[in-house]
Amino acid sequence: MKHIRFITQPGGLTILIAGLLAACVLTGGLFLSRKINRQTLPPVGNQIDDSFRQAIIAIDEMEPLWQQALEEEADISLKENPANSGNARIPTAVGVIQRSYLIPSKPEEPHAHASFQEHPTIRPVLEKHEKNNPAEWVFEDSILSSHGDFIRTPGKPLAYAKGNRSMAVILILDPTQAGAIVFKNMLPSLQAAELNKIPGSVQWVGPDGKIISETSPKPPKRPPDETLRHVSSFGDWQLKCWFPIKETVIYQVPSVTATVTLTILLISGGFWSASNQRKAAFAADQRVSFVNRVSHELRSPLTNILLNTDVAIDQSSNDEKLNQRLRLIREETGRLGRIVDNVLTFAKLDHGCLETQLTLCDPSRVIREILVNFAPLFGRKGIHYSFENDGPDRISIAKDVLTQIISNLLSNVEKYAGLNAKVSIQSGIKSGRYRVQVCDDSPGIPREAAERIFLPFERVYETTTEGASGTGLGLAISRELAIRAGGTLDLLSTTEGASFELTLPCSFTHDDIP
Ligand code: ADP
Repeated sequence: MKHIRFITQPGGLTILIAGLLAACVLTGGLFLSRKINRQTLPPVGNQIDDSFRQAIIAIDEMEPLWQQALEEEADISLKENPANSGNARIPTAVGVIQRSYLIPSKPEEPHAHASFQEHPTIRPVLEKHEKNNPAEWVFEDSILSSHGDFIRTPGKPLAYAKGNRSMAVILILDPTQAGAIVFKNMLPSLQAAELNKIPGSVQWVGPDGKIISETSPKPPKRPPDETLRHVSSFGDWQLKCWFPIKETVIYQVPSVTATVTLTILLISGGFWSASNQRKAAFAADQRVSFVNRVSHELRSPLTNILLNTDVAIDQSSNDEKLNQRLRLIREETGRLGRIVDNVLTFAKLDHGCLETQLTLCDPSRVIREILVNFAPLFGRKGIHYSFENDGPDRISIAKDVLTQIISNLLSNVEKYAGLNAKVSIQSGIKSGRYRVQVCDDSPGIPREAAERIFLPFERVYETTTEGASGTGLGLAISRELAIRAGGTLDLLSTTEGASFELTLPCSFTHDDIP
């Protein structure tokens, strides 16, 4: 509840909006001026290098052993009959995927091939081949006298070849199959290195691209910070390292300064504007209470004067002259009352503190009472008046508004219609609204002034030259009152005199009264 009261107070909403804007600017500005520095932190000791070295030694230890196994396999193969390769013996050395014999005397067959795995057969040939078929692998004759060695040919698998002068055996190898044995040999050195204790992540990748060992936590999804490689006959071994990352947040001074300045400006602007709004609201309150006080102070003595004058008129019936003077005083006091009413209504309209209320009444009686008050004035100027009413005698209507507007219209008739004028007042219901027409046979109002006369301080002629005195407020106030009460006040277009039409909303049952 307290919060709602704060918002509805003058300036409360401004402070709230300024505060929200300032919060948005501050958050957004700080976010934009923020820069994150990422720094990788390599481990302090030589643990990784030592482990890598140990692993290399383990890999390299295995290479001569493998070579020896291949040599033995080649020797056995050379002793066998190549023609039996269809019913081939399973190789003794690990990693042999194909065994091929190269025999110069029989260039095409029997270049026997025995494949030991699901593997497309590779055709090594001893002679230069005319067709230059990329599926075939051409060797020099010198291969026949080879003592046994690896053959590394770009784009071809690793091979081991050995000859006995009359033929050569080519063992086509898949070093990754030997990788499992090599890894077994590496394992003790990997365990000894205790890479798990190093901050960050370390991963060993074997020649087939598969991860053979990995520390936890799992490496992040970014390229490794360091890769150590060892190329051996078994293929390419890689030790990939991801170091821990230290993040430091840096704020750019010019952006932060601009953001803070803007935030301070917004907040102080909000408070400044709110304080102005409070001052204005306070001043408006003061003015409203002043108008209400003045209204009370002016009306009370006028009511007393009218009451006492009425009593004095009644008591002076024997003294004709005194009676006449007293009647004049009463009329003029009535006129003064109307001016005071108009001036106060104007002030209230100006300060927005005028409220119209519906009252259950007989509106024709209200009009008759006004006419009774005007009767002496009209009588002195020979003004004839008539009143016709065909409306209901009990409706809810803005009675005060009706009284003030009809009084103003009749006062104008008295001022501008001239001696012996005629005025007719007709009232009734039209389209669910209470309507009153006041028509006189005055000189009328020129068409150019038809709307202007409803503006404050506007008169048809120059104030000083117009016959009757006036402020130019009566019609302006009357129309504004009618509009505030939900009605209309218009000057009707007539060929003769001036006709005004007032309409006011009304309700016919007691329940309709708000
Ligand atoms: P005020 O009477 O104080 O001058 P109003 O706003 O009541 O101001 O009237 C505005 C002008 O309209 C008057 O100055 C007058 O010239 C003209 N007027 C109003 N009523 C009549 C009327 N019944 N007959 C002729 N002129 C009128």
